[in-house]
Amino acid sequence: MTAGEAKTTETAASEAGRDFIRDIVQADLASGKHKTVVTRFPPEPNGYLHLGHAKAICLNFGIAEEFGGRCHLRFDDTNPAREEQEYIDAIKRDVRWLGFDWGDNLFHASDYFDKLYGWAEQLIRDGKAYVDDQTPDEMRLARGTLTEPGKNSPFRDRSVAENLDLFARMKAGEFQNGTRVLRAKIDMTSGNINLRDPTLYRIVKAPHPRTGTAWSIYPSYDYAHGQSDAIEGITHSICTLEFEDHRPLYEWFLDNLPVPSRPRQYEFARLNLTYTLLSKRVLTELVRGEHVSGWDDPRMPTLAGLQRRGVPAAAIRDFVKRIGVAKANSTVDMAMFDFSVRETLNRTALRRMAVLKPLKVVIENYPEGQTEELDAINHPDDPAAGLRKITFSRELYIEQDDFMENPPKKFFRLSPGNEVRLRYAYFVTCREAIKNAAGEVIELRCTYDPATKGGNAPDGRKVKATMHWLSAADALSAEVRIYNPLFTTESPNAAAFAADLNPQSLEVLPDAKVEPALVAGNSAEAVQFERQGYFVRDKDSAPGKPVFNRTVGLRDSYAKA
Ligand code: ATP
Ligand code: MG
Repeated sequence: MTAGEAKTTETAASEAGRDFIRDIVQADLASGKHKTVVTRFPPEPNGYLHLGHAKAICLNFGIAEEFGGRCHLRFDDTNPAREEQEYIDAIKRDVRWLGFDWGDNLFHASDYFDKLYGWAEQLIRDGKAYVDDQTPDEMRLARGTLTEPGKNSPFRDRSVAENLDLFARMKAGEFQNGTRVLRAKIDMTSGNINLRDPTLYRIVKAPHPRTGTAWSIYPSYDYAHGQSDAIEGITHSICTLEFEDHRPLYEWFLDNLPVPSRPRQYEFARLNLTYTLLSKRVLTELVRGEHVSGWDDPRMPTLAGLQRRGVPAAAIRDFVKRIGVAKANSTVDMAMFDFSVRETLNRTALRRMAVLKPLKVVIENYPEGQTEELDAINHPDDPAAGLRKITFSRELYIEQDDFMENPPKKFFRLSPGNEVRLRYAYFVTCREAIKNAAGEVIELRCTYDPATKGGNAPDGRKVKATMHWLSAADALSAEVRIYNPLFTTESPNAAAFAADLNPQSLEVLPDAKVEPALVAGNSAEAVQFERQGYFVRDKDSAPGKPVFNRTVGLRDSYAKA
């Protein structure tokens, strides 16, 4: 949406749902403080985006869309030791996939390295910054604690000339990593530790994806961030709560530098989810330690993983809208995320039949060699999705779990002597269970009632269960992957997550059977396997060997646990 198509601020805010940040934006536009709202999403390219980032993306891009402003994508590429081109590419792909467009507004903190360097020199000339030769350990000790003030560095009162000279030589690569830093000269006794002479520049001798080997020093997040906001004319710089204590420093820089605009920082609560760790450090370790198959492993809370798992971008946007934006941290139940996924997929996913753990059924009174085509509904709420043909025959597959030889009282599915409906087909009655030498049921012998074609008895008799099935001759083999939470506990320990990993997070069903229609379509669209859940074809599929991921089951599996 361009500014010309902007909705009035009032309708925009009410459609989008209220939150304190949207209220502030609306008030700033109404009062004329800002003509246009400008936000930014500032990822550091040191990992893939996850669901927490999705919250920040929907908030920043969403506000820009709703209020007719713009949102910048800005890479916070200030630490080349950890950042990679692969991550830059993945982040762009994932923001687009989520449904947002930065248009021409792609920026990098590295675009401003020259400007930031010049401003640092100015702080030195103004007596507001100095080069510190203390070791990292000495600096940490001298910083003090929450209850004790810090101590001034012995290098704090260097002359401007000496500081300028040393800073230039840091830039030129004369000194080793970690031997010197440039610090702001603020107040080592401040109650806010962020104001105790924070670091502006570190020596990092590593090639940068964009600036190559031009720089041997890189600005800190705190120094680069607010100034980048000011250069880009960001009006509302929205970040997570842990930066609340950094706001005085953010403002100190704006007060002490000739910045072209005056952004304001607002903080909101980051997303935390049960059974999940949203931290790039942990996610990186999961990948590097091969606890998962990669950043796009469907068990990962990354956007790439969720996409591969079959989660539609619309479901993520819906989830973010439902959880809202608050100023106090909390943890959202993973079941809420699954709810949004089910709601979204239920509307669009075509229905298919698949048997995950097949058990063979022979219909003894159905003629050998005979088949018939039956109509199956593609979507119960969408007649336009139409019908498809499925084949009935003498040999079928049903789900192993749908048969019990000695059923408890409330088990209404197949058992010896019991009659059930096979969806779209007939009533069938189980006559006998055939076992192997180990005593396992390997085949059922059943009979069908030809008068019940289509699944209704003309005499009005009822059955208590309707089951899915496939014709054995037509069903195709597939591998099905079922995903369970990656962690066994609701709040896994980020510091020692390995102990909380769920050894059953991936269940592979190698011998599933699926409808031919599923394979013929070769579609990347999610489908519902009736009675099982939502599934999508995985990129590991090979000719003749499709692989399906279960996106989510039909019911809330967390409630049971
Ligand atoms: P992590 O904490 O996962 O390592 P990060 O904050 O270091 O992530 P950045 O690339 O710096 O990752 O994040 C970009 C933006 O996304 C920031 O504005 C940050 O506040 C926001 N963000 C990161 N994690 C979350 C989260 N869990 N909930 C909401 N916003 C988040
Ligand atoms: Mg960060």
